[in-house]
Amino acid sequence: MESHTPKKVPEAQISHEARHIKILAFISLVLFAAGELYFFKMHYHPVGYIASGIPILFGLWRIITEKHPYQKARIIVIVTTYVMFWFIVPIVFHVKVPILGGQWGSFPQLHTVGSLVFFVYFGVVLLFGRRVDCGWCCPCVTARETIGYPFREKTVKNNIWWQLRHLKWLPFGLLVVYLAFMIFDASTAYNRAGKYFYNFVTYTYYASFLFIPLTGNRNFCRILCPFAALWGLLSVSGFYRIKADKEKCTACGKCDDVCDMGIPVSQLVREKGQVRSIECMGCGRCVNVCPNKMLSFHSALGFITNRVRSASRRGTPEMLSMGIAPCSSKKREDTDKRVSTDLLC
Ligand code: SF4
Ligand code: SF4
Ligand code: SF4
Repeated sequence: MESHTPKKVPEAQISHEARHIKILAFISLVLFAAGELYFFKMHYHPVGYIASGIPILFGLWRIITEKHPYQKARIIVIVTTYVMFWFIVPIVFHVKVPILGGQWGSFPQLHTVGSLVFFVYFGVVLLFGRRVDCGWCCPCVTARETIGYPFREKTVKNNIWWQLRHLKWLPFGLLVVYLAFMIFDASTAYNRAGKYFYNFVTYTYYASFLFIPLTGNRNFCRILCPFAALWGLLSVSGFYRIKADKEKCTACGKCDDVCDMGIPVSQLVREKGQVRSIECMGCGRCVNVCPNKMLSFHSALGFITNRVRSASRRGTPEMLSMGIAPCSSKKREDTDKRVSTDLLC
């Protein structure tokens, strides 16, 4: 990894308002982590709601203050998903989810539904990349992109941290052992590997919130999350990547500065002409910030769009039989422009 030092704002230039937000964010991180960790082990209690409500307040602040339309849309989706799945659904259906102080065992036993959702999720990540979870909807994102947001510039970007990303294969290995045991005997699986896996993930996950002011908001996602490894593997095996017109890169390093996962984006762009990394959680900040507009998302949607476009150019009998007319050249030009800049393709 080429070393690139992110531009840090000198302490003296940090406004009083930013300083106050940081203090409030730090107190909130402690409350959130302590509240959630405590209630993981305790019976349902209204204090669980208070701890879980903090990301919503910070989420509203983020929605109001975010200037970039793509990032604003992302935060709106993140906060809405969090409210929907961790408040509205549990309250309406009386499910005492752990984030509201319920115990793990209080989840309804919907094994078939759970398994189906898990494997459907595999397919979705394969088609659209890790961003569908880690950039847009994991509950962890909600806390890290809202309460943790004021500490983004603290993200450590050096070779040691870049190498530390390999640590997450250890919890991932534990997860694989756990699932393998499950095939033979579920209760043995839990006793032999499951409880170690849950304890490791739970304690490291909540402890990581306390270190956000020192390490940046995505510390756990970068080095310890077993699902980061799983989704990342699927992501690089599938259609998702960020493509680059590398001849246009001026090596300004702005993409490196904004990447919360510490990915050496500009280096990958110059060497490979694309960012196809297990670490990329698809936040889109690098695409948004590039002054030369030379980065663009690609996934299954773009692949399908391109196939339809090239078929429409040829005006294939199949398309004509489907009632799809070939594009005019003017329409084609417009579509080309739109697709190359469309962040959702
Ligand atoms: S890396 Fe893990 S904790 Fe972070 S957003 Fe993805 S699934 Fe959630
Ligand atoms: S490479 Fe770009 S899209 Fe991926 S995590 Fe970094 S900033 Fe976000
Ligand atoms: S922001 Fe764009 S031009 Fe600058 S280093 Fe990154 S890819 Fe190259």
